[in-house]
Amino acid sequence: MIARLLGAFAGAALVSAVAYADNVPAPTAGPADSIGSPANGCLVGGVPMPVSGPGWEVLRPSTQRNYGNPYLIQFLEDMAAKAKSHGTLIIGDIGMPRGGPILIGHASHQMGLDVDVLFRLASAPLSDAERENPTFQAVMVADGSLNRSLWGADQVAVLHQFSSDSRVERIFVNPWIKRALCKSVTGDRAWLRKIRPWWGHEAHFHVRLSCPPGDKDCLPREALPEGDGCGAPLAWWFTAEAAKPKPRVGPLPELPAACKAILDKP
Ligand SMILES: [Zn+2]
Repeated sequence: MIARLLGAFAGAALVSAVAYADNVPAPTAGPADSIGSPANGCLVGGVPMPVSGPGWEVLRPSTQRNYGNPYLIQFLEDMAAKAKSHGTLIIGDIGMPRGGPILIGHASHQMGLDVDVLFRLASAPLSDAERENPTFQAVMVADGSLNRSLWGADQVAVLHQFSSDSRVERIFVNPWIKRALCKSVTGDRAWLRKIRPWWGHEAHFHVRLSCPPGDKDCLPREALPEGDGCGAPLAWWFTAEAAKPKPRVGPLPELPAACKAILDKP
């Protein structure tokens, strides 16, 4: 598994202390339990998102990043059914079978409640080549405006649909996309509150669910600020300070003890 991942990402910088999830061949059985936090946690009772189904296609299942809490898998199936009039959802990384740190590419996605979904919608089933070697096209052009061939009413409608679901805690998109939504959405704007600007996220949006009801090991997250997140809070993202994201300093946080035990289990 490690060799396969390293081969696939040759040349990319390796992050230290991420060995756990790569040695994990299968989910641990048991009632679903998302433990810890999105950037420092793990998952019991994970299930794979089927590679394709009514209204969805999953990318790169060979990486085994298509596992999540059944609560998330059900959510995605619901979203795919609802979004059908706009197109087929293309689902990227969810998480590893037991959650935990991912070798390359994500700080979070560790507890089976995060998922990346492409802005691009599919109109036909993906070929094996498209599935394993997908293209990730940024929806912005050089000046930050959105490419009208990649961004339109369907993308806004799908984001609106995801954001309006009570299971969704927040959704990350590129600041330029947030800005476009702030400028263009009329009428109901309450759903913009959950749409949060973050670096990257130019070709996909990242959906994070709230803790499933009754999941006592899932740590509560910081509440979203009031308001639609447009105006002053968004303006910071276009400053020189925001243009240079601070590199992470110091070691990664220590995993919760329960997660160490789960990820180390043969
Ligand atoms: Zn993500």
